Amino acid sequence: MFADVIVDISSGLLDKTYQYSIPQCLENEAVVGAPVEIPFGHGKREGYIVGLSKEEKIAIERIKPIFSVKKRGQVIESQMIALAYFIRENFGATMNDALRTVIPVKQAVRRVEKKTVVLVCARDVAGDMLALAVRKKHAAKERLLRALLSSHELSWEKVQGELSVSAATVQTLVREKIVAVRVQESYRDPLAGILQFPGESTDLPPLNDMQQRICEQITTDRRMGVNKTYLLHGVTGSGKTEVYLSVIEAVVRGGQQVIMLIPEIALTYQTLNRFYKCFGERVSILNSRMSAGERYDQILRAKNGEIDIMIGPRSALFTPFDRLGLIILDEEHESSYKSETPPKYHAREVAIERARLCGASVILGSATPSLTAYERARRGEYKLFTLKERAAYGAQMPEVSIVDLREELSAGNRSIFSRTLQEKMKKRLEDGQQTILFLNRRGYAGFVSCRACGYVMKCPHCDISMTEHNDGTLVCHYCGERQKKPALCPVCGSKYIAGFGTGTQKIEQEAQKMFPFARVLRMDADTTRKKESYEEILSAFSQGKADILVGTQMIVKGHDFPNVTLVGILAADLSLNSNDYRASERTFELLAQAAGRAGRGKLPGEVIIQTYQPEHYAVKMAAAADYEGFFAQEMAYRTALSYPPSSHILAVLILSAKEEHALETADILAKAAREFIEKTAPQIALIGPAPASLSKANDLYRRMIYFKESDYSLLVALKNFLEGYILYSEHFKSANIQFDFDPISGY
Ligand code: ADP
Ligand code: ZN
Ligand code: ZN
Repeated sequence: MFADVIVDISSGLLDKTYQYSIPQCLENEAVVGAPVEIPFGHGKREGYIVGLSKEEKIAIERIKPIFSVKKRGQVIESQMIALAYFIRENFGATMNDALRTVIPVKQAVRRVEKKTVVLVCARDVAGDMLALAVRKKHAAKERLLRALLSSHELSWEKVQGELSVSAATVQTLVREKIVAVRVQESYRDPLAGILQFPGESTDLPPLNDMQQRICEQITTDRRMGVNKTYLLHGVTGSGKTEVYLSVIEAVVRGGQQVIMLIPEIALTYQTLNRFYKCFGERVSILNSRMSAGERYDQILRAKNGEIDIMIGPRSALFTPFDRLGLIILDEEHESSYKSETPPKYHAREVAIERARLCGASVILGSATPSLTAYERARRGEYKLFTLKERAAYGAQMPEVSIVDLREELSAGNRSIFSRTLQEKMKKRLEDGQQTILFLNRRGYAGFVSCRACGYVMKCPHCDISMTEHNDGTLVCHYCGERQKKPALCPVCGSKYIAGFGTGTQKIEQEAQKMFPFARVLRMDADTTRKKESYEEILSAFSQGKADILVGTQMIVKGHDFPNVTLVGILAADLSLNSNDYRASERTFELLAQAAGRAGRGKLPGEVIIQTYQPEHYAVKMAAAADYEGFFAQEMAYRTALSYPPSSHILAVLILSAKEEHALETADILAKAAREFIEKTAPQIALIGPAPASLSKANDLYRRMIYFKESDYSLLVALKNFLEGYILYSEHFKSANIQFDFDPISGY
């Protein structure tokens, strides 16, 4: 056996591996991630095994044997390399890409350096020096010594500026051992200045019985050395964050560290402040708005044991804590937990693997758990906790009603706002309460529907809405089915059949037109392009500086708006008709989460869901806040059509700058896959190749092949086979091929 070894993992040259042979006596210990001692140059170095192979890559006589394998599992690096290997294997990527994902590479960062000049001799010696400088008329020396005698330590800026003492003068005093120059690297604290002082007012409410019981169970498990994955299913406002805080406190008190993942969008000032109040400077954050250098600073602090809690998006999972005791994924259902670029890993799976490697627990929390997580909890793989009621005193779940937009049209109302919604908005304006108008645009990709009857053009083979292309054809992106777009609705004959499209900007204008005196704010990708604007809009709204907030899914997370008593969901159908199998799940999620913004304070809340498909189960169950009901129905659909979590999907995306090449490459790959399937795993279903829904992006043509199979490991075997095939075939040189297991969004 041979091992690929990286020698220096902080250099960023992660792809620079060296091959060594593994002596037979070490074969059991020489696993991926193991730290090893190796001959290097004329000496001995330490490195890590990042890959194993049976074949030599260079002339056999040039390959040297590994000296020894050190114990694995103690060093944080070896855990991270094992994690990279897990990602490589289970999600498909090169080892190099996987390593780059888990190992923070040192960034050239301009540190905030604090450079000072200090006195290092006895005061009387300094006094003598001063007298000497005065006698010799060394004015600069005199100024410096006088200043140091009165204040002991001076900033470098002051020495150079105000005192106008040259570096050379300072150096002579350094040589004479009178003064010293101290350089202190200070980490920039990303929380500095934005948060209130800790301990100022810890207004944490005492936990209620249910919250208490959950915390106790988890901490008891941990005391007994049992590490599990818990799923905390709690309705919006049920106090999940309080549960996290309390478990975190116990873990930190026990000397261990915590990673808390939170979708970037929910990482608000409010949330951070709650953590900061509890844990002060022992907590840090990572987010995409920080520069690479700033992020690296925080990772370094984590590595040096200066912090106990890291809060951040997906990538915070790789914080190099060596006493990790707990990983939390808040809003577990969020799609941002899945990477969109290779390696397309899911943070939930990697979190569970990391926890397994180091003996930590995992808490997944959500008001609308992903089907995958809930299914596993039902099977007993995760332990399920449920919080059914809102925690804050007097807060109730909002009252939800559904408005049928087809009836609005037939009653002659062509406005975006139904009559009911208009009335209720007017009432809120009169009462000085606030309204949120929500448009779920995510996942919306040119579906075609009838405005008279609500009929949506769907693929006859896949039960997935078809996408309108520029040339007027409708295409199914799962099987390639093509149809001409009909001029009249095939169900009711109406000519109002068209691609659905309306934006937040239009809604803002309409709201303003209808209520000229209302103060309307808009939050979407356009208005939040600037660094702080996201937080600015939210805090302006929560301070009551506007009456109506119009927004996309950005507004459904994180913030508590106690004065919001009405949420209008303008077109529930938008996300229902995206072209992938998760459309209903995503719709249920968005509707339930958006509805959850209403009535979070003492005032009761109301929610209006406008839709063309009031009978759709995702809409009905979201309105009834019936997660279990939705789960049962959606699982039946997934099972019938073998979609995850009932089965697994491997999506292969083929990208090429030339259309024929993309076509040909996809065909060759499909042929190879077919042969593998016939020989090795005939139960794997192959679908495609077909054009991706985005058939061309960034000047690259995109084709898809899908594989379905209930045994994940067979799909991994197929992926490994295809990776090898791609590597050794000339044909794939200029094509980019990406693997995606259990994709969570359409292509
Ligand atoms: P979730 O994360 O489940 O949506 P939060 O943790 O944000 O809910 O809690 C919602 C609100 O309920 C917050 O304002 C919080 O302060 C309050 N809250 C949580 N737990 C309690 C409790 N035990 N007693 C009173 N209020 C609580
Ligand atoms: Zn119709
Ligand atoms: Zn189809």
